[in-house]
Amino acid sequence: MKYQSTRNSKVSVDAAQAIKNGISPDGGLYVPAEIPQVSAEFIKELCNLKYSDRAAKILGLFLTDYSNEELDYCVSNAYSKDKFGSDNTAPVKSLNDRLNILELWHGPTCAFKDMALQILPYLLKKAIAKTGENKEVVILVATSGDTGKAALEGFKDVEGTKIQVFYPVDGVSKIQKLQMTTQEGKNVSVCAVNGNFDDAQTGVKKIFTNNDYKKTIAERGYTFSSANSINWGRLAPQIVYYFSAYCDLLSLGKISLGEKINIVVPTGNFGNILAAYYAKMMGLPINKLICASNSNNILTDFISTGVYDRNRQFYTTVSPSMDILISSNLERLLYHLTDKNDKLVSEYMTSLSECGRYEVAPTVKEKIASLFVGGCCSDDDTAKTIAKYFREYSYVVDTHTAVALNVYDQYIKNTGDETATVIASTANPFKFNEAVLSAINDGTDFSDKDEFELLELLSKHGNIEIPVRLSELKTKKVRFNSVCNKEDMIKQTDSFLV
Ligand SMILES: *Cc1c(COP(=O)(O)O)cnc(C)c1O
Repeated sequence: MKYQSTRNSKVSVDAAQAIKNGISPDGGLYVPAEIPQVSAEFIKELCNLKYSDRAAKILGLFLTDYSNEELDYCVSNAYSKDKFGSDNTAPVKSLNDRLNILELWHGPTCAFKDMALQILPYLLKKAIAKTGENKEVVILVATSGDTGKAALEGFKDVEGTKIQVFYPVDGVSKIQKLQMTTQEGKNVSVCAVNGNFDDAQTGVKKIFTNNDYKKTIAERGYTFSSANSINWGRLAPQIVYYFSAYCDLLSLGKISLGEKINIVVPTGNFGNILAAYYAKMMGLPINKLICASNSNNILTDFISTGVYDRNRQFYTTVSPSMDILISSNLERLLYHLTDKNDKLVSEYMTSLSECGRYEVAPTVKEKIASLFVGGCCSDDDTAKTIAKYFREYSYVVDTHTAVALNVYDQYIKNTGDETATVIASTANPFKFNEAVLSAINDGTDFSDKDEFELLELLSKHGNIEIPVRLSELKTKKVRFNSVCNKEDMIKQTDSFLV
């Protein structure tokens, strides 16, 4: 399988090259030249396998330059029992005959980013070797919270790699900060930056594009790479869990083989729902892809009008991982829906960066409308939805999953569709404990409580167990307490790369 660039369809590289590069030198994203097709028989066979083996089978269709042994090595290290608590890496929980929750947050950091960031380091390590690179890979990350921790856990003690994470000193929650400052591993480093997330991100970009400095570290045997969400090595692993969920619904007797399901995804950067689109295009029986947004509803508008317009107010919501106005992975969808029209995609993206908007051709708009349903949900309705599902099913969901459930409820109201449905649940409710706790307590204000009190209270009121990974933070040793100014981020990195 070769990979093309969304901005130049003549590009043709192997998966290893695409994963190592992260982004194409022309600024485009790597996409598979063809979408592999699967049969009902293939899906049936998948169902007899545990998650990691399902992953090896699906990834094998896309990463054809990786041997079976290499893929087995990657999946067994990434999706091991000690990292996800069981072999059931992404369990499905049925709430009623029709509605099923795909819990993607059983990994080490309690958020769905683990599904991809646990395996990326192994795919990348192999990619480095396969492309003839002999340097040690240094991952630099600027994080506003969840990604930094998930990347640290993923790269922790992975041979041949080092990871340096920067976070804004006052821009992350106390739990998120503790998750990072107590990080274990011989090859990790964490530093706070005086400034906001943009300062940290700009600082990282500056290091990435500093050619003199890149030469300096090359002499020491290092090369930079990124764990960015547009890397194909993060997207491909996400396709797996939609197949896995389908198998689980078959086993549960919720559907029969060949029957279509709906998939609802709380969406930010459009990566998670794009993976579901690939699954559909591969032949997984999917009816509607339902794209759920919070008040930053740029995608809802795009799906209904064909106009992507970021000239709008930005809202800070209770589902912060979806507070995004530029959904980078949408570019991949546009490439496929325009039949690989790289010129047109480049035009859309130029227009987006110059004018903050673009409008797709009518044919593209029609295709989008036939595949996707868009919907959005306010913070108020997010809280109401958490309360409703707790009341009706004694099931506690986080704020992001609640957005998906609310949009699904709207969809049912509008259509009466009785198709079996899978909701992608993207975070453990304990990660967004204050908003969840308040929602299941009629809006009571808990802002005077500290993080560990909030965990205890949510456990008590929600009747759910605190994940050990979060409760143990209270007693874990802080390893990284340095804070630097944004001008000194390169010095910080340099002292790590001795
Ligand atoms: C990253 C994230 C999302 C958004 O996923 P995308 O792939 O960016 O659309 C949703 N929920 C949570 C909890 C996340 O961390």
